[in-house]
Formats: sequence, structure tokens, C-alpha cells
Amino acid sequence: MYNVSLITGDGIGPELSESVVTILKTIHDKLDLKFSIKRLEAGDKALKNTGKALPDETMSAIKNSQVCLKAPVGESAADVIVVLRRALDLYANIRPAKSYPHMPALREDIDMVIVRENTEDLYTGQEFLIDNAAVAMRIISEPASKRIAKYAFETAQNRNLQKKVTCVHKSNVMRVTDGLFSKACAEVAKDYPDVTFEQMYVDACAMNLIRQPELFDVIVTTNLFGDILSDESSQVVGGLGMAPAANIGDDFALFEPVHGAAFDIAGKNIANPSSFILSMRMMLDWLSQKYNDEKCRQVGDTLEKTVYDVVKDGIKTKDIGGDKTTEEFTKEIVSRLV
Ligand code: ATP
Repeated sequence: MYNVSLITGDGIGPELSESVVTILKTIHDKLDLKFSIKRLEAGDKALKNTGKALPDETMSAIKNSQVCLKAPVGESAADVIVVLRRALDLYANIRPAKSYPHMPALREDIDMVIVRENTEDLYTGQEFLIDNAAVAMRIISEPASKRIAKYAFETAQNRNLQKKVTCVHKSNVMRVTDGLFSKACAEVAKDYPDVTFEQMYVDACAMNLIRQPELFDVIVTTNLFGDILSDESSQVVGGLGMAPAANIGDDFALFEPVHGAAFDIAGKNIANPSSFILSMRMMLDWLSQKYNDEKCRQVGDTLEKTVYDVVKDGIKTKDIGGDKTTEEFTKEIVSRLV
């Protein structure tokens, strides 16, 4: 039995959470892979109700669980996810961009993953004012850069596709910080002679993601660039509704959609739950590796294939060109899982 903590979130978060709980319950009941789910509050609602975006009970319940699923939260996102990533040392943010059939996408043949350093860069919140100037601290350290590079090379080896890592930075302008990142990645590359290593400036990468996305296999980059490029890459293959993500540390992991709380469509039963369902698929993969559990891997593969088949059969939510509600889409997945 795996203990899963679930942050239900704000905006479309609760709807997506219900979808994922329904599917996890189906897996528990029909596919004989056991889960206990604890729903937790964090985000705007939690801030209003308790005065804290990440209440202490939520934090301790997450620490007592084996893995966390997190639906998107609203305006208080920085006080939730950024804090969790640092507190739990979830240093690798993994954002795959994979083609699914019949998407309103630029390309239908893409399979890449962005490995984003998750603990440093401009996202540590170290900003201050000096007279009439605003200053932000950008810290890029050698240990964190080497650790994320190692993760990227191992990802390229495990994927066994193009076996290529592209290190993305802007070292021609940010010579010290991105210079260090680039050098650290190049050093780690020497330990992986079977993986092709290349370097690319972030502006060229943003262009190539549109022009020749098939060139990419694994992109490794710093925190801010990774955040921006992964929204772009998700659009290349079909939009945020299909974009899952993982935050991984050595001992713990948290899985969440790439997108935010999408208040414009909240409460309308039209959000695409695939982003969260595919995040759960990544969770099953991680559990299978951590606990050497073959059953988890099989169920994860089945879940991904089911999402693939469902959208291939034209059963889709509005954002990807269909007319199904969140609940109808979820029901279809459930009916095919049993
Ligand atoms: P953030 O700044 O936290 O990323 P945001 O409000 O700028 O949040 P998102 O919430 O990430 O942006 O989403 C942008 C738009 O994409 C939403 O307004 C919504 O229309 C669409 N969208 C995002 N996620 C989904 C989804 N799961 N299903 C359908 N549409 C979605």
C-alpha cells in the first residue's frame, strides 16, 4: 500500500483532483495496486482559511507520505511549490513534451523532456530594493549544476531514444553564472561518452523548439529558462492540458501539472485532466523505480496507453478540440482501465 498525499489546489485544481482520485481508486479496486490517499489543503483557499498558504499540518502530512500529487494552486503558488521544492530538496523538475494523436499541435512526432534545475537561479526569492533599483540574486552553484546534469544524462540513457543532452544557457551574456552551469554540464558529460552532448543559447533554443523540435531529446537548463521553455514545448505538442511534470529528489517526489490554476475555466467541468493523469503516470514510474515494483510500471504503462487511445478515438476535452467534460473524459479512462 502506497501512502499518497494530495494537494487539491485552487481554480481547476479540485476538479482535476477528483479525476485523479477516481482513477487511483479504480486502479486500487480493479488493478490490485493499493493506495491510501490523503487530501490536503494548500494555496489561496488555505491562506484564506488558515492564514498560511502551506499550513503546518499539510507540510507534516506530506512528509509522512511516500509521494505527493499536487494540483495547481493560485496566486500563492510561490509560497507553496517553491517552498516545497526547497524544503524537500526536489532538485530535478522533469517536464516531458510528448506528442499525442489528433492534437491542435505544431508537430505530432515529438518526444522530448526538459530537465530543469529546481532549487536555484532567480527563483529563490532573494530580491531587494537599493534606493530606486530592484535587485534579484541569481545563484548558480557547481554542486547543483552537476547534480542536475547527472540527472539529465541518466534520463537520456534510460530513455534510450536519441541519447542526446542539450545544455541550454546564456553564457555569452551571463558569463559567470551561466558560464559555471555550462562548464559543470560539460564536465559531467565526460562520464557519459555514449550520450551526445551539445550546448545551445536559450534564445536559439526557444527558436529551435518551434523550427526543429525533433532535434531535441533531453534539455538540461537552469530554473527560469526551464520554466519558460517547458510552457513553449508543451504548446508544440498540444497545449498545457496535456503537460505533466515531476519534482524529484533523492528520497521524495512530487507530481503536478505544468499549468497553473486556470481560473478562467474553473468550476465549469471543462478542464483537461490529462495533465494531472499523466503526472500520476510519472508518479507510478517513480514508485516502480524506488520500490522496485514491476506492477507499478505495468499500471503506469497501461494508464498512458489508455490516455493515448482515448484521445486517438476523438474523446477529448475542449482545449484539445473535443467536446467532452472533465467528468466524461475521466469516466472513459476508468471504463477502459477495468
Ligand atoms: P500560472 O501563472 O500559475 O502558470 P496562468 O493563469 O498564467 O497560471 P495557466 O493557469 O497555467 O496560466 O493556464 C493558462 C491557460 O491555459 C488557462 O487560462 C486555460 O485557459 C488554459 N489551461 C491551462 N490548463 C488547462 C487544462 N488542464 N485544461 C484546459 N485548459 C487549460
